[in-house]
Amino acid sequence: METSKQAPLLRELKNYLIHLKDMGYTDIPLEADLFANAQQGTAPLESHPLQSPNEMISKNNKSLIAVRQELGDCTRCKLSEGRKNIVFGSGNPNADLVFVGEGPGADEDEQGFPFVGRAGKKLTEIIEKGMGLNREKDTYICNIVKCRPPGNRDPEADEIAACKPFLIQQLKAIKPKVIVALGKPAASTLLGRSVAITKERGTWHEYEGIKLMLTFHPAYLIRFPTLENRKAVHEDIKKVLKELKK
Ligand code: URA
Repeated sequence: METSKQAPLLRELKNYLIHLKDMGYTDIPLEADLFANAQQGTAPLESHPLQSPNEMISKNNKSLIAVRQELGDCTRCKLSEGRKNIVFGSGNPNADLVFVGEGPGADEDEQGFPFVGRAGKKLTEIIEKGMGLNREKDTYICNIVKCRPPGNRDPEADEIAACKPFLIQQLKAIKPKVIVALGKPAASTLLGRSVAITKERGTWHEYEGIKLMLTFHPAYLIRFPTLENRKAVHEDIKKVLKELKK
């Protein structure tokens, strides 16, 4: 691999290891046969969600690393001008469940990982307390745009259009059972139409043959923490859990 392409990947790997440490992981299982399998592209990695660097080999043998490499040091849209880090995604590339958010905020831009700020804490709470799952082992999390929109504004149509092919490739590589779109921009991007999230949350849709649930963005729950909104998200994730258990 060219040295110019290695630097951002190594930085990302380093950040990922720091992120795992922050999340309480103290070691990473490394096994010789695991690497051998992964090199052949045949590794069923379900029981080893945290391998590195092979953590990006997904179950259908398409590598998330290849998608990340294609993204490169992206300058396809104007969001690249103000970003510190590209926020590609994090979690288990074999996950049955993928959450798709809107775009990185200041904390995510700083650390290079999705949902690590306040909204991230809320999302982790939903996953771990609400669903009884482990965020890193049981889910993969990414956004419709990989660079922070200035001032946390909504991503614009041209920015979403530039980044969407990479989201599509990520989902193709992971092939989860269920995708959860967090908020209107994610739901609208995946469905290719303007979604009225307050009306449509809690309903099942389909994205390329994959079940798609729409729910409120965790930042919305932080801004409007009414019982009604919290109950709504609780109902939505109960439906997701039921589907995952099928
Ligand atoms: N909000 C998002 O939509 N994505 C993040 O990664 C963080 C906050």
